[in-house]
Amino acid sequence: MSSNYYDVLGVQRNASPEEIKRAYRKLARETHPDVAGAGSEDRFKQVSRAYEVLSDPEKRQLYDLGGESALGNNGGPGAGFGGFSDIFETFFGAAAGASNPRGPVPRGRRGQDALVPLEIDLQEAVFGAAREITVNTAVVCPTCSGTCCRPGTSPRTCDVCGGRGSVQRVARSFLGQIMTTSPCAMCQGHGTIIDHPCTECSGDGRVRTRRTITVDVPAGVENGARLRMPGAGEVGPGAGPAGDLHVEFRIKPHARFTRRGDDLLCSVQVPMTAAALGTVLTIETFDGPREVTIKPGTQPGHTEVIKGLGVTRLYHHTRGDLKVFVDVEMPSKLDERQRQLLNELAALRGEDRVEGRLTAGTGVFSRLKEKIGL
Ligand SMILES: [Zn+2]
Ligand SMILES: [Zn+2]
Repeated sequence: MSSNYYDVLGVQRNASPEEIKRAYRKLARETHPDVAGAGSEDRFKQVSRAYEVLSDPEKRQLYDLGGESALGNNGGPGAGFGGFSDIFETFFGAAAGASNPRGPVPRGRRGQDALVPLEIDLQEAVFGAAREITVNTAVVCPTCSGTCCRPGTSPRTCDVCGGRGSVQRVARSFLGQIMTTSPCAMCQGHGTIIDHPCTECSGDGRVRTRRTITVDVPAGVENGARLRMPGAGEVGPGAGPAGDLHVEFRIKPHARFTRRGDDLLCSVQVPMTAAALGTVLTIETFDGPREVTIKPGTQPGHTEVIKGLGVTRLYHHTRGDLKVFVDVEMPSKLDERQRQLLNELAALRGEDRVEGRLTAGTGVFSRLKEKIGL
């Protein structure tokens, strides 16, 4: 393909578009594989490529400046035989283009993909689960097993194309007589004709039904993630291969736990006295009851981390953490005895309370940064 396109067409550098066109018509006539035999295909491609470039003023200018490489990738050697036949067809008419009989066209075509949403619990997202879903889909017709024929009958060979699915005819063009191939109209290119279509599926080879499918919810799946189940979609027309089923997971909010990445978060309420004195809480987790130790002097907003009780990391089999936020509950109503005890406590702790007021400058301000950065 490296030879000069002007030489390929046998024209001068300054050839007019009309001269280029004329040269191409002459050479195409001599080199088209339908006329000159399969051995001339390379030569025909070369001639067509040269014409493709030199007939386009923009491409011709680029080619004149920098040769083939100046044209970039679009249409390098062999890169667009479709392009060549397009040119050929615009020149000589569509009938002259196709020369490759491809054999009968199968009846079955691939089915559609389907997308179904699946609501899952947070616990199922944490551990994974097997869930059954029912989908409205197309399956292979049980009556004809996808043959599309009434039971006991079978397709017969098309007598127009003899089962090839295509018909050849002789077209007359200025090249002389050339053979062209087109799909058989009688059998729509299938090569066979069904005289007695299955009544169950009307010859479609598939019927609509509801089907139950088991979905493996992956442990650690994210809200909105989609799982692709190849071949679990709709069976295609003519009992063609099934499309894919995509399942989109939607995780239901949980009453106690919130997910943040691989971690689970929850909060517990601890009475002021328990936070001050320390205690042990038992909380219900997805892994059963677990004890959480509240150390003496635990502050509001403190977070207790329980390692490994979070969400499974997708494909890793390790788990995030469970983070327990401690809410300290202040007593809202005090009786006389309780008030007395708290006053005594305040006095013992040397807190500067003057007639029920806390004076400034005694550590009233806490560290805002720490509070915000919880
Ligand atoms: Zn059927
Ligand atoms: Zn036919």
